[in-house]
Formats: sequence, C-alpha cells, structure tokens
Amino acid sequence: MQYFQRAVVVSVLMCVAAPASTQPLDHQVLAAIREEGLRGSQVMDHVSWLSDVYGPRVTGTPAIEEAGRWAMQTMRRWGLANVHAERFTFGHGWSLVRFHAHMVEPQVMPLIGYPRAWSSSTNGTVTADVIRVDIRTEEDFAQYRGTLDGKIVLPQPVREVPLLEGDLVLRMDDEQLAEASRTEVPTGTNTGRRRRSTAAVQGRVAFAEQRQQFYRDEGVVAVLDRGSDAVFVGAGSGLRQRTQRTDGGTIFVGSGGPRDETAGSYVPAVTLAVEHYNRMVRILDKGLPVRVALHVETQFYPETNADDGRNAFNIIAEIPGRDLADEVVMIGAHFDTTHAGTGATDNAAGVAAMMEVMRILQVTEARPRRTIRLALWGAEEQGLLGSREYVRRHFGDARTMVFEPAHATLSAYFNLDNGAGRLRGIWLQENFAVAPIFEEWIASLQDLGVTTLGPRRVTGTDHTSFDALGLPGFQFMQDRLEYNSRTHHSNMDVVDRVQRDDVVQMAIVAAAFTYNTAMRDDLLPRKPLPTADR
Ligand SMILES: [Zn+2]
Repeated sequence: MQYFQRAVVVSVLMCVAAPASTQPLDHQVLAAIREEGLRGSQVMDHVSWLSDVYGPRVTGTPAIEEAGRWAMQTMRRWGLANVHAERFTFGHGWSLVRFHAHMVEPQVMPLIGYPRAWSSSTNGTVTADVIRVDIRTEEDFAQYRGTLDGKIVLPQPVREVPLLEGDLVLRMDDEQLAEASRTEVPTGTNTGRRRRSTAAVQGRVAFAEQRQQFYRDEGVVAVLDRGSDAVFVGAGSGLRQRTQRTDGGTIFVGSGGPRDETAGSYVPAVTLAVEHYNRMVRILDKGLPVRVALHVETQFYPETNADDGRNAFNIIAEIPGRDLADEVVMIGAHFDTTHAGTGATDNAAGVAAMMEVMRILQVTEARPRRTIRLALWGAEEQGLLGSREYVRRHFGDARTMVFEPAHATLSAYFNLDNGAGRLRGIWLQENFAVAPIFEEWIASLQDLGVTTLGPRRVTGTDHTSFDALGLPGFQFMQDRLEYNSRTHHSNMDVVDRVQRDDVVQMAIVAAAFTYNTAMRDDLLPRKPLPTADR
C-alpha cells in the first residue's frame, strides 16, 4: 500500500471545486465491486485467451475474427445484453505464414527477426548476398543503379547498443505523480510548427515511396532493418519520463507495406535484432562477403472475402440501465494489435480489464441507473479507425459538428490503452469541471494506489475520437511498467510481461469509475464544444 503527496492536486482543484456537483457514492456496491474484482478476478484468464490462443489480433485476419467470436460468446455467457459486432471497411488484412532467416556466410547464425507488417513474400527460401546501401536523397540513387539485382540490402548504419543503465520499468513515484498533476500554462499557438512537421512527414513518406520503387526496379530481394534509431523513448502521452529500449533480442516492428489495392507490392521487409544487424554491417565494413538465407511467407486477405467487404469490426456489449436507461456510459479498449507479439500489453490487458468490468458489474448485480456499454475497437493501430467510425455513426461528424441525438445522452467514455500497469489516476483531458467529481471518486481508491488527477489533454488512442466531438472522453493514468522499454509493438508483447496484480487493480478501478458515472443524478460536465473543421 502506498500513499502519495497530494499538495499539487489539491492546489489545482481549489479553484474549480463546485460543491453542488457532489453526491453520495454507493459504498455498498463499490465494496462488492472490489470484493469480486479482488477475490473472483478472471482477468488473467481473459488475457490468456486473447493473447496466447488468438494473438496477434491484426485487423482483417482470421485470428481477430476468432478472437471476436470468443469475446462475444464469453460476454453472452455472462448475460450481457445487445452483444454484437459493428463492421466497417479496412483494406487488406495480413498475417505471417512462415519466417526463418540465417546468416550463412562467413559463419552460420540464426537471425532474430520478424517480417514487417504487410510485407510481401520471398520466392521460397532465397540465399543472397547482403549489401549495405545508404540512400538518403535522390542523388544517392545513381551510385547503386545496376548493382542491387538479387541482393538483400541493409539500409541503416550500425546503431550503438548501450548498457542497460537507463530506466526500464516505469512505476510512477511521488515526483512523477506530482509532475503529472500539474496544469501547464500554454505557450501560445504552435500551428506554424505543426504545419512544418506535417510537411516534413509528407516529404519523408514521398521519398520512402521513391526508394521503394527504386528497390523494386533494381530487383532487390529483401530489405533488412534494425528498427528505429531511438534508444531512449518518451513514456508517451501525458508523461515526461524516458525509458531505455531493452534490445537483446527484443525488436520493435512496424509496417512494411500498404494495405490498399497496392497491397503486396513492396519488397519483402524484415526487422532484425540490432545486435545481429550490427554484426553483418561490421563484417561488410571489413570488405568481406555476407550471405543470408531468408524465407518470408505472408498472406493477404482482400476485403472482398468478408461480410460485404467490411472486414473490420467493433464489438459492443451492454448492461441495460434502469430509470436513466436512455443515457449511456461507455468504456472501451482496442481489440486489435500489431503483429510481432501476441498483443498482451497492447492491448489484451485493456480489453481484459474492461471485459472484467462488465463481468464484475454483472455478477454483483450492480443494477446501474444508466446503460453501461462496452466497446472493443478494431483497427486502432492503423489510426483509431474503429472508434472514429463508431463515433461518426452514433454521435456525429467531427468535421461538421453536426450531431446525432445520442450526442446529448452520453455521459462519458473511459479508455484503457497505456499498457498493463495499475491505474494511478485519470487524465482530465482539460475538462476541469469534472475534477471535483473525480477527486471524490479517487478518495476511496487511494489504498489501491489511485491518487492523481492529471489535467492534461492526452492523445494517441481511442478516447480522442470522442473528445474531438466534444464528448467527455478520458484515458486512465497508468504505470507503464515495461510498456515503452520492452513490449509496445515488440515481439515480446506476450502474456509473461503482464503483471497480474496490476491488471486486477485496473479492472476494479475502471469498474468504480464506470459505476459512479452510471449512478450520478447528472451527466458528467463537458468542455465547450470544439469548433468544426479544426
Ligand atoms: Zn494500443
């Protein structure tokens, strides 16, 4: 049990406290939620089914379809209402069939690696010379023209691998919680900077396309990379801490091709463990030949194979409300994953915890006043596609700010997607009017380590689809644990990296927030509406 210094939180809240907004909580039901969540938890069982059995759950694949059927059957068995999938179009799905890679000259070494998502296949097992290419501008193409036919290319220099002396596990301490609870004074508009960075990204994408075309035209067999240059990575939305990437066989694997009608047109692409990549570069630098035997076999799933071409889905399940049944509290987490691990911390943990919220509320017969609706989103990893689609269909269009009637009756949406660590509070998303209400709720959760309201607007996941439409969308504040250093989009995002006690706590805390929101006399306060077409 831990208690934390709260001076900063209080100072933020002093100026916004509105006594009229408070009302007694049902501590009887909150105690029953806690009892079931602690003693009867099934959350790790959900994590294992989702990850061990069905992972990875890449949108548009048979695996995520099976996982979806499992989740819906499970929730129907619990007696949840209105369990169904809402489908939408996505593009080609993609999965790995087989992969192996060996350096075969000058010595034999099995290569630790993973094909990039949406990579095409090699023509069976190919054994080819490896060469280092350095193509950063259009002028660089000339020196390689006519030299790459039948070759495997290494496009990056050696990256130094430092000793693991940085932070690896992010468990928020008093100082970090105090930092998270601070309101920052905005420094003015950064539109100019944003425009410049968008232009820079567009430029990089366009050049990458050009280089890809060059590889294809020149007959390159495959591209092997070692992942990004980053050794220390920011802890992500809301937090300032940086953690060290673990390396040592853990690889962070991105996408290696398009999923539109040009799917499969890119040269096969594989990310290798940095140490294995570096070894090959160092041998090449000595003027010695390196050869690799490589087998990449992947499968694409065109949209036309599924349900009117709608090969992505969100899963919905409800606990119907009583006297305020027309009003809704939503909770959710993204169901889909990236491809290299089994999506255990990103985001089976979030899905399992939110499913467990529904199970706990169901078995404790909490009987909420408002309807509680769970949404498990598809295609979050490709840009929050599932939650955006759902919000557009049910609540309104963020471009025009034209709303559906349901816009007026959603109290809040609570999201989980920052790993598998315990919840330490919640980000207010700059909705300061909600602070005194949440402050009361966390008072009874302090013994579980929930102490902090973070005023900041945090980004990067599905609550922003709601926030963009002026709906109260919230992300919980979590201990990241190994999320940034080891598991996020890596081959080691597996069940063994999920800490049971943390995920048990996640479900209890999320259940308390959900239940309290469903029981208040009023909807939660909202921020002023954003303007159309921001
Ligand atoms: Zn995620």
